[in-house]
Amino acid sequence: MEHIKLLIIGSGPAGYTAAIYAGRAGLSPVIFEGLQPGGQLTTTTEIENFPGFPQGIDANELMSQMRSQAERFGAEIRSRIVEKTDLSKAPYHLWTDDGVELEADSIIIATGASAKYLGLADEEKYKGMGVSACATCDGFFYRKKVVAVVGGGDTACEEATYLAGLASKVYLIVRKPYLRAAQIMQERVKQNPKIEILFETNTLGLFGEDGVEGAHVVYRKGEPDERRYDIAIDGFFLAIGHRPNSEIFRPWVKTDETGYILTEGDSPRTGIPGIFAAGDVADPHYRQGVVAAGSGAKAAIEAEKYLQTLK
Ligand code: NDP
Repeated sequence: MEHIKLLIIGSGPAGYTAAIYAGRAGLSPVIFEGLQPGGQLTTTTEIENFPGFPQGIDANELMSQMRSQAERFGAEIRSRIVEKTDLSKAPYHLWTDDGVELEADSIIIATGASAKYLGLADEEKYKGMGVSACATCDGFFYRKKVVAVVGGGDTACEEATYLAGLASKVYLIVRKPYLRAAQIMQERVKQNPKIEILFETNTLGLFGEDGVEGAHVVYRKGEPDERRYDIAIDGFFLAIGHRPNSEIFRPWVKTDETGYILTEGDSPRTGIPGIFAAGDVADPHYRQGVVAAGSGAKAAIEAEKYLQTLK
């Protein structure tokens, strides 16, 4: 059975940064890239808020640069998906999608989170062409334009408020007759003249030639006063929650009720010796590439310290 000293699972900013640090520390890390090489950032287009790129950088280019940097320091990157883990005792056991079992002394979990989508075919069609699940990432491209945000929770209200600072108008599409966000967030949204809340409304589809130009929506679907109509929009933002990719670790590590891995204080330590969590899989709050990169660095530093204790 193959034995790996340090295994990094996930290839977003957290995984690659952990690999860069671990590689430079001489740990010869192995990275399993997972289902989405490059992580969530590769679902957006241009990144303008990653420090060091004053003119912005293409998201795929940024991730490919991080990948090369990790390889330069000796990280071995494999196209593998972990399907099952046994973290009951060290060395830890894992099984990959091709049925191979291996063991690792230390693991950095950097599997990220996935934004939830409504499941409309049009979301896929217009991804990166007007459909986004991150207002902080993509809002800037909608200055003085009209956008819609779907959701009625804290994220939706926060994103609608953020976008209202840039866009000329924001529709907030809420499926219930009320918002679920904290009172203060609700007030902020309701008092913002640029935000129009469409309660009891669902999205049926999107339309547009070379990008989103509008959405087909339905008010009170299935009720006698059901009304279907279109709204003209340039951007469609999903804010209906995220799902942390922690399923395969849940029998072992502690998570919150949504599945985000709980770490000790501000550290990446999970409480299991040698098992660390970095990036969005352990961060329900910030969800930023630069934050994930920082936590990847922390995890690698912790892993190095842990591996020294095994010598
Ligand atoms: P939530 O789960 O709180 O809210 C999701 C929203 O999306 C709900 O309004 C829900 O509607 C709606 N929704 C879900 N699925 C669909 C669907 N298929 N179609 C239409 N609407 C849908 O997620 P959030 O991301 O808003 O928040 C996650 C956690 O993070 C919460 O605990 C929140 O408090 C916290 N948070 C805190 C912030 C802060 O304190 N500043 C900022 C952001 C998040 P319905 O109500 O009908 O279920």
